[in-house]
Amino acid sequence: MKELFEGAIKFREEDYLNHQELYENLKKKQDPHTLFISCVDSRVVPSLITNTLPGELFVVTNIGNIVPPYRENPNHIRSGYLATTSAIEYALNILNVKNIIICGHSNCGACSAIYETKETLSATPYVCKWLDLLNPVKERVEALKPNSRAKRIWLTEQINIEQQLENLMTYPFVEEKFDAGELRIFGWYYIIETGEILNYNMIKREFKIIKNTQTKSS
Ligand SMILES: [Zn+2]
Repeated sequence: MKELFEGAIKFREEDYLNHQELYENLKKKQDPHTLFISCVDSRVVPSLITNTLPGELFVVTNIGNIVPPYRENPNHIRSGYLATTSAIEYALNILNVKNIIICGHSNCGACSAIYETKETLSATPYVCKWLDLLNPVKERVEALKPNSRAKRIWLTEQINIEQQLENLMTYPFVEEKFDAGELRIFGWYYIIETGEILNYNMIKREFKIIKNTQTKSS
């Protein structure tokens, strides 16, 4: 813990002073351009892997970078998965973000946990309940009959991103802005050990590594 207190001092003396004007301008309001939905995993650091500064990303993290499907039923508003849903609502309807990125990652504990038995997960009933949201992902992966554990995990992590993109489109205000060309939506897959990020092509339904040529042309 001592390191964190020392880190707070170091931040004020170094990073803060390097961007003092930026912090002063951020005093009154935020105007992020992108809603970034990623996993709570400590190895995934959104501002680091996107090379962005404070004020640029509106970050929502949860176990497994899940977007709960939208429900209009008032009962669901009382009992639903509100943390993520409310953040998406706020980002779109109040902050008017222009982009959404759903970012999954390699070696994701949530994606492997869905194959554990309920008994194994008994110590974490809340996690277990949350992971029920990944049942459609599990079904899609099992239908492909992967022939090894590594293949199954790789497929699960990537199909999870596809599934969450589809869930995102169930939000009426997301679909409306996307169809009007006011919102861009991306699915990313971050490979921890290589530092590479794959971008999902929604038309070809495949992941391609983000390279220099791609960023220059877009
Ligand atoms: Zn994860």
